[in-house]
Parts: sequence; structure tokens; C-alpha cells
Amino acid sequence: MSSPLPAPRLNAVQTRILNLLVAAQKPLSAYEVIDALSGEKHSEKPLAPPTVYRALQKLMDGGLAHRLESQNAYVACRAQGHALCAGFMICRACGVTREFSGAALESFLGQAARKNGFAAEAVSIEIRGLCSACQQSESRCGERPG
Ligand SMILES: [Zn+2]
Ligand SMILES: [Zn+2]
Repeated sequence: MSSPLPAPRLNAVQTRILNLLVAAQKPLSAYEVIDALSGEKHSEKPLAPPTVYRALQKLMDGGLAHRLESQNAYVACRAQGHALCAGFMICRACGVTREFSGAALESFLGQAARKNGFAAEAVSIEIRGLCSACQQSESRCGERPG
């Protein structure tokens, strides 16, 4: 698997968490991250939650990950180079989360904030619905289970 991310300097824990988030197709909570990393190597001590939270914060500061406010969970950034605005489509059936970003959206939201004299620091848009795979499996209506 190739990693196209031009990562800022990450320590071992941060790199492992980033790889985990990239591999996951869904948002992971901090505790799911801890569980997954603790299960990796039994010889290692489980990671302390503050370590994981710090690492997640570092990834977010570096633009490598985002937090989904509504789910209190984290996803790897799939669209590099966007500063402020991240949008997510979250499938209510399977939980798959896709990131989208758009310059038009970002400038619109930036303008709205500026008009109100508001200094926006982060924008997160969450669209809920069904992913294309789940739409198809719903319309097939149990033709092929699973
Ligand atoms: Zn992103
Ligand atoms: Zn789905």
C-alpha cells in the first residue's frame, strides 16, 4: 500500500494512529484507536489515553486527520491542502465516511463568517444518508444478503 501523504514529522505513535485511520473506512473513536493499537503487539504496554489524544491533536494540527464532532470520532484526511473546511458524507447503514472538500464551499462559509465578524477556526459539514453500495443493496431488497 502506498502512502501519498507528505507527512509532517510524526513520532511512532502518531504514525501508527495515522495508518490506522487511513486503513479504517469509518471514523474511529479515541478508544477504538487505543483498542486497535493495544491489540497490535501484545508485548507493548497499552497506550495511555492522553498520549492518544495528544497524537490525534497533532495529526489534526498537521491537517492529516479530522474530528467528526457529532460522533466524537476521528478520520484521516482524504483531501490534502484544504485549510479550514472539511465535509463528510456518512453512511447511516454501513458507517463508511467519505470526505469531500470544495473551494466554493469554503469561500462561501468564510464569507459568511467574515460578514458576522466571526473568526472561523474550523468548519465541519456532515451529510448523512446512504452510500452508493448501500443504496444498491437496499433497492435489490435482499436479493443477495450481505
Ligand atoms: Zn481533510
Ligand atoms: Zn453504506
